[in-house]
Amino acid sequence: MDLRVIGCHGGETPRHRTSAFLINDELTFDAGSLTSGLELAAQCRLEACLIGHAHLDHIRDLATIADNRCQNGCAPLVIAATKGTIQVLKKHFFNNLIWPDFSVIPTAQKPTIRYLELKPEKTAIVAGHRVRAIMVDHTIEGCAFIVEGTDGAVAYSGDTGPTQRLWVMLNEVPDLRALLLEVSYPNREQKLATVSGHHTPRTLGAEMKKYRTPKDLPTLLYHIKPTFQSEVERECAALRGVNLSVCRIGDHFVL
Ligand SMILES: [Zn+2]
Ligand SMILES: [Zn+2]
Repeated sequence: MDLRVIGCHGGETPRHRTSAFLINDELTFDAGSLTSGLELAAQCRLEACLIGHAHLDHIRDLATIADNRCQNGCAPLVIAATKGTIQVLKKHFFNNLIWPDFSVIPTAQKPTIRYLELKPEKTAIVAGHRVRAIMVDHTIEGCAFIVEGTDGAVAYSGDTGPTQRLWVMLNEVPDLRALLLEVSYPNREQKLATVSGHHTPRTLGAEMKKYRTPKDLPTLLYHIKPTFQSEVERECAALRGVNLSVCRIGDHFVL
């Protein structure tokens, strides 16, 4: 499985991009930086975006990629998400007010985007991969994803604080090659992390103990707030019994 980091931060500056990860050039986890981070041809090659929740830092580039793909006559882009997330996208984003409704542009028969509702924990085939959405704990409806291909599985936590069900499911995945796991704030900002449904290195360390062999699971950290980048990295580096690395823009993993 081929995994590219397009954007991996919990905020934006000229050196930080919001969350978007590319799997096998055809499927993405979230859409925070798809157009700022991918050339037009790569944008057009995408088949589907898995959207974990509807916060702006994860969906913003759905607007610009839809526009670009429409102009280039690309095949409909599948936006796969749970029911509540799709409802928010329809009502508050592609609503013909802040952005056109690309699910009927240029025509309803051959639209620019197509919604695919994922039922929690039910396997769906998306861009040729087996995908499951697992509900997590954030401030709005949100899910993690487990993506399985012919060559193993990769998982993405989405935005979440401490959660249970995801770890039960991850423990049952036979060939889990990597987990993309969020961490946002340093330990001294625990209150802010808790009210906003995010991890600090402390809660992340406790969370990893829910996995059967944390040392054997390559865990790729993302969603660090630019303000706290070095502090969070230092605190994560002090965690023991885990296999952590911090994602960088442009990272390419062959899993
Ligand atoms: Zn969020
Ligand atoms: Zn976020």
